[in-house]
Amino acid sequence: MGLLNFTDFLFESEKTTFGIFSEGSTPIVIVAPHAVDADDKNTLEIAKELAMRLNAFLAINDTFHKPCEKKCEYDEDFNHLPPVVDGKLDWSKRVPEMKTFYDTIEEYANKASKLSKDNNKRCLVLFIHGLKHDKYDIDLGAGARSAPNMVINAEQHAQSKDNTGEITAPIKFVEEFREVLKKKGLKVGTGDVFSAWDGQNGTQYLQSKGIDCYSIQLEINSHLRDEPSKTAELLSSAVQEMKDYSESIFYLPQDVK
Ligand SMILES: [Zn+2]
Repeated sequence: MGLLNFTDFLFESEKTTFGIFSEGSTPIVIVAPHAVDADDKNTLEIAKELAMRLNAFLAINDTFHKPCEKKCEYDEDFNHLPPVVDGKLDWSKRVPEMKTFYDTIEEYANKASKLSKDNNKRCLVLFIHGLKHDKYDIDLGAGARSAPNMVINAEQHAQSKDNTGEITAPIKFVEEFREVLKKKGLKVGTGDVFSAWDGQNGTQYLQSKGIDCYSIQLEINSHLRDEPSKTAELLSSAVQEMKDYSESIFYLPQDVK
């Protein structure tokens, strides 16, 4: 794994008024949009340790939570992008911190992709979430959903009424990620619970900006989140074990989707 250099990386994160941010030295960005206890518990710890292990860029929201029944303080779903008006995201519909969050993710993705092999402008962005039920240990959302006899059904993707987004990572890449995680004894879905195919899902952000990074939403169940350090270690090794990791992120042309 010549791409990842674990020895000379100094992890320094910056705490802002609403989150934790740090720059990395590999073409990987880790994002935790719901890292408050009331929402996706322990995703802060997982995201932070995963970024540290992968020398990745890191963006965490640890302040704003999903909407309360009645409007309350720090009430904003950081995974729900604002509506598009005249071809642009209407950020006046969200708190300013959320725009800062996504501007930073975009900046990190651009910087991360410059670190890719041969500067081919590609990176991997993992959105870390909490899954409420136990059908799967981890569900991988990349703008598509499994169907019988197919890992991901792109046709179904195109026909769904909820789907206004794009497929955010090559199917081949998502399949491989799933297989590596399965070999570690996990039950893994591919968008079965949360497909991240709604155009307003945070996972779709970079695609909507035309940035050629692979975005995957990792919905992690509570058992795995109860052991954040172990889970971060497992995810880190899974990313590094992917056979096509270097090839798909750093070598292949854009014909893999
Ligand atoms: Zn979430």
